[in-house]
Amino acid sequence: MSQLLDTKIEFLKGVGPLKAEALKSELGIFTVGDLISHYPFRHEDRSKIYTVSEIQGQEDIYVQLRGKIFPQGILGIGPARRFTATFRDGTGEFELVWFKSISYIEKYLNPGSFFLIHGKITNYKGKINMAHPELEVLTDDFNPSSLGLTPVYPLTEGLKRKKIESKLLTQLTKQIVTLPQFQVPECLPESIIQKFKFVSRTQALTDLHFPPNLTCLEDAKRRLKFDELFYLQLRHLQLKGNRNRVITGLVFEQVGDHFNNFYNNYLPFSLTNAQKRVLKEIRVDVKTGKQMNRLLQGDVGSGKTMVAMLAMLLSLDNGYQTCLMAPTEILAIQHAISIGEWMEHMKVTVALLTGSTTKKNRKEILEKLANGEIDILIGTHALLEEDVAFKKLGFVVIDEQHRFGVAQRARLWKKGQVAPHILVMTATPIPRTLAMTVYGDLDVSVIDEMPAGRKPIVTVQRHESTRPLFMDFLRDEIAKGRQVYYVFPLIEDSEKLALKSLMSGYDMVADYLPTPKFKYSFLHGKMKPADKESEMKKFKLGQTDIMVATTVIEVGVNVPNASVMVVENAERFGLAQLHQLRGRVGRGAEQSFCILVTGDKLSESGRKRIKTMVRTNDGFEIAKVDLELRGPGELDGTKQSGVLDLKLADIRFDESILIAARNEAVLWLEKDELLMQEESSPIRYELGKTPNRTIWSKIS
Ligand code: ADP
Ligand code: MG
Repeated sequence: MSQLLDTKIEFLKGVGPLKAEALKSELGIFTVGDLISHYPFRHEDRSKIYTVSEIQGQEDIYVQLRGKIFPQGILGIGPARRFTATFRDGTGEFELVWFKSISYIEKYLNPGSFFLIHGKITNYKGKINMAHPELEVLTDDFNPSSLGLTPVYPLTEGLKRKKIESKLLTQLTKQIVTLPQFQVPECLPESIIQKFKFVSRTQALTDLHFPPNLTCLEDAKRRLKFDELFYLQLRHLQLKGNRNRVITGLVFEQVGDHFNNFYNNYLPFSLTNAQKRVLKEIRVDVKTGKQMNRLLQGDVGSGKTMVAMLAMLLSLDNGYQTCLMAPTEILAIQHAISIGEWMEHMKVTVALLTGSTTKKNRKEILEKLANGEIDILIGTHALLEEDVAFKKLGFVVIDEQHRFGVAQRARLWKKGQVAPHILVMTATPIPRTLAMTVYGDLDVSVIDEMPAGRKPIVTVQRHESTRPLFMDFLRDEIAKGRQVYYVFPLIEDSEKLALKSLMSGYDMVADYLPTPKFKYSFLHGKMKPADKESEMKKFKLGQTDIMVATTVIEVGVNVPNASVMVVENAERFGLAQLHQLRGRVGRGAEQSFCILVTGDKLSESGRKRIKTMVRTNDGFEIAKVDLELRGPGELDGTKQSGVLDLKLADIRFDESILIAARNEAVLWLEKDELLMQEESSPIRYELGKTPNRTIWSKIS
């Protein structure tokens, strides 16, 4: 039976060497099984036959009609050369047009015959017409209900050029599913099928291609989407299970002097309940003897850094060094500044290692790291280099993780003799469904509460033409002692152009807010690190009023006194980016503002993005809109994941199936973790068929 699925497509009627070659090269279809797995992306209702009178005034819909065709002849020359004919069905008439295959069509149209035509109605100068309709000569015993819902398959341009159309795929697939030996191995245990009243996998596949009615089509989709998501979750959970079995985790028994001293004497504010809860979750994890792999999600400004700080102290209390890795130098520098301040009166040694650390400094740091003198190492990708070796690494924090690739993360922990605990922090608000899909093998903690006293940021859209007005507003805010970020989009990713566009941006701003009365800091990605650090410091210490920057300040920068964020050409930014930028303000007790400056003409999605930003401050809500606008594959970092190339399920719309699939996968592994029981045999078989895909969030 699975022999059938493995059969080469050449075995099917209608597949000669040329077509076989085209199907292989264009769609990767080699076998009968591949063909069955090439799903239609929609169905057309071919049981309905329209009349010409019914479709008058319609546009852009696919319809099927029955009637006679009367050739008109060839018109026009060059690209406008076309063949036209009149279609009549007794209720009216309209024109059919062909631009290609004209001589073939001319011969085919026998004026006496009845035709069934199918195609898209377009409206041309107030009249309906149809270009390149599908044609079929009707026989006497024709019965429209025999056509029913007809699949439409995704095709490539290459296939269309070779005249391989949906119709051929339909014929081939029909051949397969009507074979008496067509039987697909069941991939779900019987009890799950019963529980959800699923149709069998064979039935689902048959109905997905050739549904007798819409209910059957829905049932087939529900079943097949569940299969996809169930196996995705099962693989995540197995990965996690294997990790727990194979890797021994360090045990952090005690809360010691470092933690207690800091917590009782130097904590600059009291923790929010959410911060306390997450800290507790971490403390539970690190006692179990299993390696922690935890994702900490929290909107921008929710206070993730302090949670990481306290967790790092826990590691020190148990005799282990820790490190914190940030995606940009600016962020690493900033963490070094704030952690340095927090640790000022503590007996803790903090060091910063980045790509621009001097050779001499670096050598010293590496020595102290190896002999255990450095307790906390903060840095960028530079931490991943071969010669960075810790004496006893116990805890790793990765900030703003969406910027790191799999390989990089995997390299980090090899630096410890025993796998350290890993805390991954992200402010990219990922909707719950996406988190379950992408990070299914991590434990997730959420900080869902902002520190007390924060006022929601007021966001407005302003057109370029009103610049004098909002410049006045900036002047007033600065007069009150506030500071302003002024962000320009990075036009080109080159040092010279970045600087140039920033400089002309600065000239424009300085026209309204002139020096020396107003003092400026500058920041762009390609600056020398020492300059970055000093520009950041000046702004942080309040020595400058306005920070003119590119999006390098997008991630993590923290200056609580800055209360206004202006983003020029805001329509060029994605939602996630705008939200990150806005998150730079609203960090203190003052009312903060975000001014999105746009041109007058916005694209549809540009308008929607700006509107969303103005409407809400809620990162999760924004992420949802982002997901709708861009689709899951486009979200930061998920593109390369491969996790999201689901064929049928769309996590934007199939949340309930995803949750059900996740729950069943959890229950199943709780019952039979190693899949040894008889009932698990369909799962064993299915997992054996396809090797585990690379999972993006895999950390160890
Ligand atoms: P993010 O989660 O975006 O990394 P940060 O850790 O940078 O946020 O915190 C944002 C700001 O809020 C910082 O100035 C931090 O010191 C402050 N903060 C964090 N937790 C609290 C709290 N519980 N109460 C008051 N302020 C806090
Ligand atoms: Mg942060």
